[in-house]
Amino acid sequence: MRDARTMRTKVLIRRAAIERRVREVARQIARDFKGQRVHLVGVLKGACIFLSDLVREIDLETSIDFIAVASYGRGRESTGQVRLLKDLDSSIAGLNVILVEDILDTGLTLSYLLRVLRQRRPKTLRVAALLDKPAQRREEVQADYVGFTIPNEFVVGYGLDYAERYRNLKDVCILRTASR
Ligand code: 5GP
Repeated sequence: MRDARTMRTKVLIRRAAIERRVREVARQIARDFKGQRVHLVGVLKGACIFLSDLVREIDLETSIDFIAVASYGRGRESTGQVRLLKDLDSSIAGLNVILVEDILDTGLTLSYLLRVLRQRRPKTLRVAALLDKPAQRREEVQADYVGFTIPNEFVVGYGLDYAERYRNLKDVCILRTASR
């Protein structure tokens, strides 16, 4: 792995644009589920900040839970394998579930999670992804609510990490190796 000191970040999506888009997605969800309760399932750890902002903008009865999977390890390349690290705390049977993801890349994680969650008989199952990187898709999956479609770059910030760093950046940034 490269030394963290040789990495540079470049802003891709500013905090204000994220805030505006999160409000729009929340309004769309509120329209789609008018008069009903929605149960947000956040995929740890990357989606925790997106979920926290999103749930506060949804003008409906809501509840939240979290699930954790391992797909990338500490580096930037997908292992192509997904493993359940933490299961949900409670049943989702009969609920309007919205799976909240930080980023949709190859689609392997999402397709695994949809398989797992569908078996538990939710009333409805939708997906909200802050970011969509369609260039690398290996599974035929898509999100119902997408914050931003982005180019094929490795991004960090607003919950997304590189080896557990950068999650606290307020903007979504491209992470590149600095040229010397
Ligand atoms: P997928 O299974 O769709 O390839 O990837 C989903 C997971 O890979 C995301 O939830 C995220 O943890 C990680 N991932 C994919 N692309 C990026 C990226 O550009 N930046 C970061 N930080 N993580 C990514």
